[in-house]
Amino acid sequence: MQLSDNQYSIQGVDPVELCRQYGSPLYVYDGGTIRRKVLELQEAFSGVKMKIKYACKANTNLAVLRLMRELGVELDVVSPGEFEMGRCVGYLGSQITFTPSGVPYPEVRTAVEAGATVNIDSLPLLEWFGQTYGSSKPCLIRLKPNVAAGGNIKIMTAHTDSKFGISVALLDNVLAIVEKYGIKVIGLHQHTGSDIKEAEPFLKAAGVIMEAALHFPDLEVIDMGGGFKVAYHPEDSLTDMHTLGQQITAGFKDFCARYGRELELWFEPGKFLVSESGYLLVTATVLKNDPARFFIHVDSGLNHLVRPMMYGSYHHILNVSNPGGEAKTYTVVGYICETDTFATDRPLPEVRPGDVLAFLNAGAYAFTMSSNYNARVRPAEVLIDHGQARLVRRRETLDDLLRTQEDL
Ligand code: PLP
Repeated sequence: MQLSDNQYSIQGVDPVELCRQYGSPLYVYDGGTIRRKVLELQEAFSGVKMKIKYACKANTNLAVLRLMRELGVELDVVSPGEFEMGRCVGYLGSQITFTPSGVPYPEVRTAVEAGATVNIDSLPLLEWFGQTYGSSKPCLIRLKPNVAAGGNIKIMTAHTDSKFGISVALLDNVLAIVEKYGIKVIGLHQHTGSDIKEAEPFLKAAGVIMEAALHFPDLEVIDMGGGFKVAYHPEDSLTDMHTLGQQITAGFKDFCARYGRELELWFEPGKFLVSESGYLLVTATVLKNDPARFFIHVDSGLNHLVRPMMYGSYHHILNVSNPGGEAKTYTVVGYICETDTFATDRPLPEVRPGDVLAFLNAGAYAFTMSSNYNARVRPAEVLIDHGQARLVRRRETLDDLLRTQEDL
């Protein structure tokens, strides 16, 4: 979002006008930012055969998926629903990786038989895969390297206590099952977690995975998952993707030399590609100057953006209606009957009832984590691309809430 002459805009489009046209609250995505992030990643890893598998759990709006496909990005999915959304926009099964977490086996069967490659995340699933397909279908194995990375335990996924993947300590069991059925393992996978800024945790996890890789002679891929950090706070320093790319590329090239063949390097970024592109626009409803805090209620809550309450995440807020207003300190809260505090004691230009506020970095794990709690509908979504705004999901209605009820 740019500020010029005391007026915010996204690709020249006025966010306040968008709220007037499509209603509030409203999710808005800047397609230009997504294009820029994809390019940044491609350039950072131009020295190796790198493939991007967008972790679409971050944002499954079909317009976003379509844009990813147009940009040559493939998909990582975690459910049959995400798989079908990918296919809706033209992805072939073979362009989709399925990374389940303890899902029922029929889900894996459907994905595999539609051409997807599965990241096997448990010994029982590996056994089932071997019994079902023998050596007839390729797969990747998700190992847990026992590395703690990222700033928040809730979004770390490769530490010893994490439920994800097969611990490297069980490598002998993995190898025994692979040998028993002649399973065609074409790749090893790991996902360390989210919000990782430095190369070091990636390299540490990669080191463990690459050591294990020497036991698998037919690999084509090392899949390093996602997790690249984005700047949520204005004072967060940005990940230097160029340097990160060079460091990881160097480590990967050394490994390929040891392995004896050039492999593909896959990444599954979610938030890196879409977080910055998204804004949640909300409207200030009630201003409550309590002795303890000056509360601003907005027409949204944890039903639309749960990250601050779920992970304690910081989302920067702009008063897009009154950017030049006198700075005051507010606690921004939602309208849900729970404690849904978006921000405590946050300096903002003076907020008046009816002002539109923008939550930044609302492109990832925002709409996709939304709910109908308190029987509230989900917001509409707008994509701005090449300077044009268009509605890409209508606002839900009460009918949508009632549609599945049997007792009308
Ligand atoms: N890959 C896997 C297996 C994941 O579980 C996740 C996130 O949960 C991602 C990729 C994407 O992570 P991020 O959005 O931090 O890049």
